[in-house]
Amino acid sequence: MEGEGSPLASNQKDTRISSPFSWRGDSFPPILDSETPDHLEKIRDLGIPYIFDIHTHFFPETVMKLIWRWFDNVNWAIGYRLPEAERVKRLHHNGIKRFTTLNYAHKAGMASSLNDWTYTNYKNWEGAIPFGTFYPEEGVLGYVKKAVEDYGFSGFKLHCEVSKLNLNRPELADTFSYLQEKQIPILIHTGTAPLPGEFTGIEFFKPFLETYPKLVVIVAHMGAHEISAYASLLDSYPNLALDTTMVFVDFLATGKAEDVDFAVSYLETYQDQIYFGSDFPNIPYNLNHPISRLLELQISDLAKQKILYRNAESRFFK
Ligand SMILES: [Zn+2]
Repeated sequence: MEGEGSPLASNQKDTRISSPFSWRGDSFPPILDSETPDHLEKIRDLGIPYIFDIHTHFFPETVMKLIWRWFDNVNWAIGYRLPEAERVKRLHHNGIKRFTTLNYAHKAGMASSLNDWTYTNYKNWEGAIPFGTFYPEEGVLGYVKKAVEDYGFSGFKLHCEVSKLNLNRPELADTFSYLQEKQIPILIHTGTAPLPGEFTGIEFFKPFLETYPKLVVIVAHMGAHEISAYASLLDSYPNLALDTTMVFVDFLATGKAEDVDFAVSYLETYQDQIYFGSDFPNIPYNLNHPISRLLELQISDLAKQKILYRNAESRFFK
């Protein structure tokens, strides 16, 4: 992995130091995988046969390269800037045998073809759980139904910040009602981290959930920077869940250290409504880092088992 394109060829200095997002402590976690990641033995001891990562990204290479360029501009090193087949091998190498195929549209006329692309390709990625996306536009219910009924997709992903998406848009009402009725999960980046958008945050999310109270929703990044506000909805909405993506790590793009530390208690309290997510491949550290940080937290073994494996396994393979 070293060399051209690698974020950390040996003669380069670590650009992570000049990221606008801060880091916990003054050293950085490794960015390249070790030969045998040390979390593999630990998960085995916990009775976890493999990790289920609810938040991994797959885009057509041209789009992925544009996304990487954005990250380069904020010195957000991409740990896994590799061809697609190599990336899948890195997931397996880290004990992640099941993972989602998240992507999203940043403009109209794009979502349906992303779904077609995912459908054409996901069978090449062993362990991939196909997720689609949609956008407020004409024909949306039609291509969402196609993705569910013809493609057999297991869920959908929406990104309120990048897509400038207001979840309360009336053009999406039929689609959300359909997905609620079918109990198909939607993973939504609705929070204000790492950057706020016009329609991000709890003030947009809460009325949305009140409109579709039985919708199966997974909130990305635990709703950071408003983790407590999102967590406070978990009791009233049993179909609501949070993913841990980029939260309990040394890179503080999702919140200040004290906010993240405070959020640990939610993992125990709401252990049935939390999923592990990594944001692979767009992470400025290796996969061992988020997994071992989660394993180190002062929560029960049962909570770790549910978060890393059981909750997602039973959601998608009942
Ligand atoms: Zn993501």
